[in-house]
Amino acid sequence: MALTDYVRDMRGCSRCSSCKWVPFNQVKSWRNAMNCPAITRFNFHAYSGSGKMNMGLSHLQGRSELTEGAADIIYHCQLCGACEVSCKVYRDDIDLTDVLLELRATCVEEGQLMVEHMAMLDFLKRDDNPLGEPKSTRGDWTEGLGLKDINREPADVMFHAGCRFSYDPDLREIVRGTARLLQSSGAVVGVAGGEESCCGGRVYELGYRGEAANYAEDMLSRVKASGATTLVTGCSDCYAHFKYAYPRIGKELPVEVLHVTEYLDRAITEGRLRLRDSVPMKVTYHDPCHLGRMSEPFICDWEGDKLLRPMSLKRTGKGGIYDPPRRVLSSIPGVRLEEMERIREYSWCCGAGGGVLECDPEFAAWTAGERLQEAISTGAEAMVTACPWCERLFKDAAGESGLDLPVYDITQIVLRSTGTR
Ligand code: SF4
Ligand code: SF4
Repeated sequence: MALTDYVRDMRGCSRCSSCKWVPFNQVKSWRNAMNCPAITRFNFHAYSGSGKMNMGLSHLQGRSELTEGAADIIYHCQLCGACEVSCKVYRDDIDLTDVLLELRATCVEEGQLMVEHMAMLDFLKRDDNPLGEPKSTRGDWTEGLGLKDINREPADVMFHAGCRFSYDPDLREIVRGTARLLQSSGAVVGVAGGEESCCGGRVYELGYRGEAANYAEDMLSRVKASGATTLVTGCSDCYAHFKYAYPRIGKELPVEVLHVTEYLDRAITEGRLRLRDSVPMKVTYHDPCHLGRMSEPFICDWEGDKLLRPMSLKRTGKGGIYDPPRRVLSSIPGVRLEEMERIREYSWCCGAGGGVLECDPEFAAWTAGERLQEAISTGAEAMVTACPWCERLFKDAAGESGLDLPVYDITQIVLRSTGTR
């Protein structure tokens, strides 16, 4: 697909501005009524989903250039997908996120690149990860866990750690704990270790289509060669790209792809994982955008007028993963879940996605701070989530802004309850 394939979508925008707000029947308070970090922060129409659609149409019609300033606005967006959910509630069938992705691919084609992203792209070229860490140490987190080497030994479950979990020293115990939980459920678990690569999600979102296809091809061949029947990841970004982006670029993985919350939910329900110990804690749960609305698989193969497209073929955000993490939390003795005002497909983004963490860390931290305040207002003692990018940003933003709220990965709470060592 290309930007030209979305003229109908861009023309369909009436500038009603519904994409800036949580759908009104879901709003609980004025404080938490907005859904789009970009328009909320910068308060200028161009930053909204609609504004970017108007820019795309204007560019295609030759009325404006994709200037450096335009690219700056296009990349000041977490690609969180909230605008599309709201637009589809109120308007007809506009595939807003697709337009945002095509706009970025057009920026790359026309050479309007963000200098702030160049270091990350160099890191990816050099070491297959966006963090600048050496490829040779990628598998260090697995030491002593007895995991199978998926490149040489058979396993039922292939566990993909992802870049952030593989390298972030503050999150190392989380990824090690996740692997131990998978093992405790009775699965033979394998990892690619030092041969694992980035899923390609960041480059896909930034509009570097060729690089994204190469990463997807690499992953596809590794999965095929492994013989595993299930691929599990604890990273919501990787999960969304396996489920949403890979099929769109013709690289669908020939195995069952599960986020760790889905895997644990199943293992607990089937009695393969026993939650024994009480974890007395009042928590709130943050839905990562990439585990929620952005993971909904979607191939737009409808050729007629979108006004006539059946609801079952629309991407509304409802197909994301919302119930498994909540079921897991509710099955842990002692845990009490207090919901925030913006949840499930109406959730507010953590701020890290779409390349924003790399191009404007201050905007990313502000977005996270907004969410932390919403979480604190529930009276919860801690925030639980299910994505290492959210966790990293929330921990940093809490430290910098003095917002005192511990942040946990959901697997840490499960681990405590199972007593797994
Ligand atoms: S909700 Fe949809 S139609 Fe309304 S302004 Fe936003 S993108 Fe345009
Ligand atoms: S994807 Fe998210 S940040 Fe980007 S315009 Fe839409 S709601 Fe705003």
